Amino acid sequence: MVNYCLVPGCSIRTREGQVVSFHHLPARDVERCKQWLRAINHPMFGKDTEMKQLKNHRICSLHFKQEDFELNVLGMRKTALKDTAIPSIFTFPDVGKLWRYSSRLSKHTI
Ligand SMILES: [Zn+2]
Repeated sequence: MVNYCLVPGCSIRTREGQVVSFHHLPARDVERCKQWLRAINHPMFGKDTEMKQLKNHRICSLHFKQEDFELNVLGMRKTALKDTAIPSIFTFPDVGKLWRYSSRLSKHTI
């Protein structure tokens, strides 16, 4: 199964051996889910989106800060997000592609 990241402009897909992890939206926690949606500013999903539409969508780990992840005993990053984590990083390695994609996708400027 291929995972897609919900963040507009993010072209990350799961591939074997890659270090990116994918995280479901916190659909059970409506307030937090809305915070996520505000943060990612998706043109199709906003504050009026029903939670059940979101339960199959995921966001990749590139949009979270190191401190948003639970750490294991060695201080290494695990793939579990903290309950307080909100996606906050929206820069991508392939910037040229991002600009073309986002200008087509929405009228928002970055
Ligand atoms: Zn992503």
